[in-house]
Amino acid sequence: MELKHNISALAEESWARIVEVRRHLHQHPELSFQEKETAEYVAQFLESEGFEIEKGIGGYGIVAVLKGEKVGKCLGLRADMDALPIQEMNEVPYRSKHAGVMHACGHDVHTSSLLGTALLLKALRSEIAGSVKFIFQPGEEVLPGGASLMIRDGVLENPKVDFMLGQHVFPELEVGQFGVCSGPYMASTDELYITVRGKGGHGAMPHLAIDPIHASAQLIVQAQALVSRLTNPIEPSVFTIGKIASEGGATNIIPEKVELHGTFRALNEQVRASFHEALERLVQGLELSMGIVIDLEIRKGYPALVNDELLSDEVLKFGKEYIGTDNFQVLPKRMTAEDFAYFAQTVPACFYRLGVANQTKGIQSGLHTNTFDIDEDALKHGMGMMAYIAINLLNMK
Ligand SMILES: [Zn+2]
Ligand SMILES: [Zn+2]
Repeated sequence: MELKHNISALAEESWARIVEVRRHLHQHPELSFQEKETAEYVAQFLESEGFEIEKGIGGYGIVAVLKGEKVGKCLGLRADMDALPIQEMNEVPYRSKHAGVMHACGHDVHTSSLLGTALLLKALRSEIAGSVKFIFQPGEEVLPGGASLMIRDGVLENPKVDFMLGQHVFPELEVGQFGVCSGPYMASTDELYITVRGKGGHGAMPHLAIDPIHASAQLIVQAQALVSRLTNPIEPSVFTIGKIASEGGATNIIPEKVELHGTFRALNEQVRASFHEALERLVQGLELSMGIVIDLEIRKGYPALVNDELLSDEVLKFGKEYIGTDNFQVLPKRMTAEDFAYFAQTVPACFYRLGVANQTKGIQSGLHTNTFDIDEDALKHGMGMMAYIAINLLNMK
């Protein structure tokens, strides 16, 4: 009880400063893998607080380690730093100053909240058994994902990270609420680029042409059937073609070529692999049966994000202790993606959600929209929650 009160008092004390940090970051957003100023700002903040930092990990990634006064394991805490190519429409004093760039996914909140957590944990060093590694990551929004690059550059070594936490804003929850989903939580994501090449001709004489529009229609319908017929119905997956365009063509003209762009997502790596195989087979079958030529490019994105079950249970337990039993919910799975999945593939990890909406204040826009914003009380809860869970986890592991 005492620890909880200490942490919420410290969070209350640091709150105004962290709001300022968040507003600074919000006003100066940078696109994925261009987070130069953001990284510099984070580095200066940490250095001014006496942290030793490492820069340039996986691009603009930054790492700081805090050693506790007791021995124990190493817990990694991750925040991402990049913004999105969106023009902000909010009329707020901290509106983005960079035209066409906006923190519409709340990574400004993750970064400032983690800096706040660093302040709290530094003040509570005597309570920490082991060490905490603060990981500030570039490029979450764009492939190949900054997480994979930081891992490649050894972010999980020296000291070796035993387990990890990540926190993401969630406008589907009110401020003061949190949520977590144990096990598979978010989807793998693959981009599909398909070119169907036929032979153009007169719309009234299809027998003299090879119709790529008709073949594309077959492909779309049959690929949907792969999802419904080839995968176990209790394993979620989704296939969407979001763009279809022919080159040329008219009411009476069969075009030469059709381009299809789409996505395939799944919560299970086996489902993912078998869909890829089945789609290749479908393409070969259509080529054979329709005399068409199809180029299929599957650009593999992030893997499925699987939260460690034991760790998620512990996060839920400590989370409820900190914020109240009714305020830490169990969330359903979702088919959006996160490159935190790379961390979760490597060490036991838990990615949980921070409520940021406030319906009465009209703060409720979705992620990746030009009016996304948060109730800044969320920063207080976010930094306190992460500090509380971190200390408790390290003391029990
Ligand atoms: Zn995002
Ligand atoms: Zn995000």
